[in-house]
Amino acid sequence: MRTTQDFPTLRIIAHPLIQHKLTILRDRETPTKIFKELVDEIAMLMAYEATGDLSLEPAEVDTPLERTTGRRVSGKKLTLVPILRAGLGMVEGIYRLVPAARIGHIGLYRDHDTLEPVDYYFKVPGDAAERDFFVLDPMLATGGSAVAAVTSLKRAGATRIRFMCLVAAPEGMKRLASAHPDVIVYCAALDRELNEQGYILPGLGDAGDRLFGTR
Ligand code: URA
Repeated sequence: MRTTQDFPTLRIIAHPLIQHKLTILRDRETPTKIFKELVDEIAMLMAYEATGDLSLEPAEVDTPLERTTGRRVSGKKLTLVPILRAGLGMVEGIYRLVPAARIGHIGLYRDHDTLEPVDYYFKVPGDAAERDFFVLDPMLATGGSAVAAVTSLKRAGATRIRFMCLVAAPEGMKRLASAHPDVIVYCAALDRELNEQGYILPGLGDAGDRLFGTR
């Protein structure tokens, strides 16, 4: 995992398989079906890396031959929180790795004129203070949605929050890090900049539209 001096809370997951799949994802010719599968696979691979610091506890187990002490993930209650709608594309891949995770949802859309997030849905487990949250959104663009999602989670009592995206823009990363310096951000790539419409360059286009074929 790479870090940058500019953004101490950013972790860039540079695994070759992730980078390879991300390049296919960026390709404008990649069809919806493949795009969806790749988002799922990249999210799973990223989650594998991002959960590398989970703590373990001893666990007794009977093998067919004898009793032994294995290890299992201790106490952590993981919760995945996709930001609707593009974040949904990242859920299944991670859930396959962590089937005990709970899934919350945050509905935010970006107003096309102001580029600011508008909140229309929020549902997470009641015991938020005891949980470890992964907020999911493929694109960290202006950072408006990410900041709003983390703020809403903190209001609900969450204290341990991480953010996972596929592509981050410096502008969004700066905004998220300054509003929520406690939130570690995982991405597969830190891209160059935003354009005037708030799209990431070079980016991959509108992740929601490409995931759900609404282009
Ligand atoms: N949302 C997207 O889906 N793509 C971008 O480039 C920026 C925000």
